[in-house]
Amino acid sequence: MKAHDGMYIDGAWRAAVGPDTIAVLNPADEQVIAQVPAGSAQDVDAAVRAARAALPGWAATAPAERAARLAALRDVLAARKDEIAETVTAELGAPLPFSQKVHAASPIAVCGSYAELAASFPFEEKVGNSTVYQEPIGVVAAITPWNYPLHQIVAKVAPALAAGCTVVLKPAEDTPLTAQLFAEAVHEAGVPAGVLNLVTGLGPVAGQALAEHDGVDMVSFTGSTAVGRSIAATAGAGLKKVALELGGKSANVILPSADLGRAVAVGVANVMANSGQTCSAWTRMLVHEDRYEEAVELAAQAAAKYGDRIGPLVNAKQQARVRGYIEKGVAEGARLVAGGPEAPADKGFHVAPTVFADVTPEMTIAQEEIFGPVLCVLKYRDEDDAVRIANGTVYGLAGAVWAADEAEAAAFARRLDTGQVDINGGRFNPLAPFGGYKHSGVGRELGSHGLAEFLQTKSLQF
Ligand code: NAD
Repeated sequence: MKAHDGMYIDGAWRAAVGPDTIAVLNPADEQVIAQVPAGSAQDVDAAVRAARAALPGWAATAPAERAARLAALRDVLAARKDEIAETVTAELGAPLPFSQKVHAASPIAVCGSYAELAASFPFEEKVGNSTVYQEPIGVVAAITPWNYPLHQIVAKVAPALAAGCTVVLKPAEDTPLTAQLFAEAVHEAGVPAGVLNLVTGLGPVAGQALAEHDGVDMVSFTGSTAVGRSIAATAGAGLKKVALELGGKSANVILPSADLGRAVAVGVANVMANSGQTCSAWTRMLVHEDRYEEAVELAAQAAAKYGDRIGPLVNAKQQARVRGYIEKGVAEGARLVAGGPEAPADKGFHVAPTVFADVTPEMTIAQEEIFGPVLCVLKYRDEDDAVRIANGTVYGLAGAVWAADEAEAAAFARRLDTGQVDINGGRFNPLAPFGGYKHSGVGRELGSHGLAEFLQTKSLQF
């Protein structure tokens, strides 16, 4: 695969300071497809300086000009969507149709939504005898994961640019090629030099140096809860603002009145999508005891059909981790009704689509984020019991509720301690705020709420 051997800093590709590189693997065949530079603290420092130098100019541009750059960026991403899909497939392993439908398409929609929001957002408001201004927070460190490589980047960079901030991006080490392609698109869209800078590198080296840097005003991080906690502590010591999008263990609650066949089919598809590597996946299906066995049967059949339709996991470590969770589920007494810990193929980091029945709320597989194609089906007695089980983890990112009547499902959804709930399947809305309650995060992404994260408020009294 095509790869840059430098960092995108101040509008140009520059050689990295040190000689270290990161090998990028194709998870489907375990072959090395490219090498990218592993950035050091010096590369990070150069990128932060460029972002700081570009800040006054970019912060002072009219919102309409920022909107025009974001619209141009959306158009470049749209023109290069096939290349984006192929790149994500090569470094993440997602099947090409899924990369086209989701990995390439959703960032275009999100970028477009911020082109519109940048033009319409109330950056200035009259409140009584005051004028209240929403001003950019400054230089943003964006640290992103590999699971939706371009979506996670755009969900941070587009609102930050709309707000008038400048950015240093440190993408995940497994998916740096998509990030390089994004930097090319930003360049092509005519975004001024220094507004977006890219440093590829290892989390504990480049990521840590970025989160610690004095020239950074805000850290926006998506990834694991463990790293999020350490970034929050680092940023807290420097009194930087943080936004954190972390893990999840979302509940899919099927109320007795629901269309069980549809709820189970959509629920299984939601967990298996992207090989289960979705932080908002509905990994715990909660079914009333009267229809439990029927739901288990349907879920097992649906999962078995996925067979070879899902891609591998991103790397050997994730594959071993997920297989370890499946073994733990069996050891703790859950009933395996589809899949299992055995690798279904000799090559590639595959895990079989797996469904566990007889899962109780305190089991490890019902409490911890597995991040693989593994569904747990749990039983509840009544609505209060379902609420207690659904809310009984440290996470609160997403969820789903199904009922014959939308109002009944919505009333139940209001009792869930979670940031986003899909009613009877829902539909992706790039304007709806996304983010977590409890240990799933701090702050929101997408829509105007996502834009507001990158602003600070000033009031003038007259
Ligand atoms: P991770 O936390 O290991 O890495 C995320 C990013 O942080 C990467 O760019 C990594 O290089 C960087 N990083 C790692 N250590 C760092 C450090 N000490 N200092 C600074 N940066 C550091 O997570 P991952 O393995 O890339 O992704 C999987 C996890 O991310 C899952 O737990 C998943 O739930 C979570 N996730 C959450 C969301 C969300 O929106 N809530 C989205 C995607 C992934």
